[in-house]
Amino acid sequence: MKLAFLGATGTVTGSKYCVSHDGAAVLVDCGLFQGYKQLRLRNWAPLPLAAGSLASVVLTHAHIDHSGYLPLLVRQGFRGRVYCTRATQALCELLLRDSAHLQEEEAAYANRHGYSKHAPALPLFTRADVDAALRLVTAVDFDTDFSPAPGFTARLSYAGHILGAALVRVAAGQHSIQFSGDLGRPNDRIMRPPSIGEPADWLVLESTYGDRRHDSDDPLVTLGRIISRTVARGGAVIVPAFAVGRAQSLLYHLHLLKASGRLAPSVRAYLDSPLATDVTDVYVRHRRDHRLTAEQCRQMCDAARFVNTPDESRRLDATSWPIVIVAASGMATGGRVLHHLKRFAPDPKNTILLTGFQAGGTRGAALAAGAREIKIHGDYVPVRAEVASIENLSAHPDYVESLEWLAQFPRAPSRVFLTHGEPSAADSLRRRIEETLHWPCTVPDYLESYEP
Ligand SMILES: [Zn+2]
Repeated sequence: MKLAFLGATGTVTGSKYCVSHDGAAVLVDCGLFQGYKQLRLRNWAPLPLAAGSLASVVLTHAHIDHSGYLPLLVRQGFRGRVYCTRATQALCELLLRDSAHLQEEEAAYANRHGYSKHAPALPLFTRADVDAALRLVTAVDFDTDFSPAPGFTARLSYAGHILGAALVRVAAGQHSIQFSGDLGRPNDRIMRPPSIGEPADWLVLESTYGDRRHDSDDPLVTLGRIISRTVARGGAVIVPAFAVGRAQSLLYHLHLLKASGRLAPSVRAYLDSPLATDVTDVYVRHRRDHRLTAEQCRQMCDAARFVNTPDESRRLDATSWPIVIVAASGMATGGRVLHHLKRFAPDPKNTILLTGFQAGGTRGAALAAGAREIKIHGDYVPVRAEVASIENLSAHPDYVESLEWLAQFPRAPSRVFLTHGEPSAADSLRRRIEETLHWPCTVPDYLESYEP
């Protein structure tokens, strides 16, 4: 068996791992690179292997940095199946179509306004590419063996990170590998804690927060405080949020704040993302995959008004009373939140609230680092608004939670590969695992491969 790292090395994006054995190969995750330009440029290059030779793809979850390269893989000749959980299939349909739509729109906008260095600006992939990829998707149940290639066995188990997220175990010949994908957390208000999965020889573990502890404050209290002080000065709270997971978590927290009287019912909240609206509906339909009851799902949906048309979205920018706008994307790399940032970032009354990991090179990371201006659609926008962040809403474990998850393993893997982390985070988690559990760890480099 051979394991090759084609992404998520030295970065949290571009997850792609190729497992090959006896002439057959399976790709675990097929994600886009995001953030720094030198990483994003990799999305435009063909994969360093023959896409047509892959037997199948197995997805851990639907986030674009784990699924967004699928349309390009199909364009390069991949014709196998794409295995994932039912909820991941439903979310991929929404996320990939939205991603293609955004790229087509951005290319058209850049061509109209002439700010692209490329003439003409092109989308990375189109809706037609996405449709071709979606036709290959086959849903499988949690905790049920399937064969992704001749001689291979695979199994998905509950990871808790977002709806549908799975640990992926792949076995072939004498060897097995467990992929954590993105792990969830032990005490999330919506998702259940990650399972342990079956023991395996190797573990490929995410290290997003490998060098950090999450704030121990209840995110409900922090969120209430940030909104209240912004409302008191007559401002708006702009929350760039991932459409999957974070948006639903924010809605549910807004409901809890209003229900407990910590937020006045008169404070209007808007979910300005047709994608997040559709995703919320998938959460309601896949109730067995999370903690919320039917009643709690209804409360989550009632916590904000759902904004549909671009006109309604623009009207929010004319608002002068205190409001909360939750809009995609989570790292402010695109989506409707950009228009709201243009409008609200220059005014110190307002707050920009970051609620998740901000990958290096994104506008979100620049805001978190205290940038006084950010570039949007070719213009520099001054940032005078308060910039706040809540890390404890994160859908990823901190290093203590990761170590606690590992400590439950019935037997130690012979090696742990740490991926999906910036270099300092991956190395820090490596040191902690080696010191506390004495498991050998490796932080692989881009395109490196290993054999047992
Ligand atoms: Zn994820």
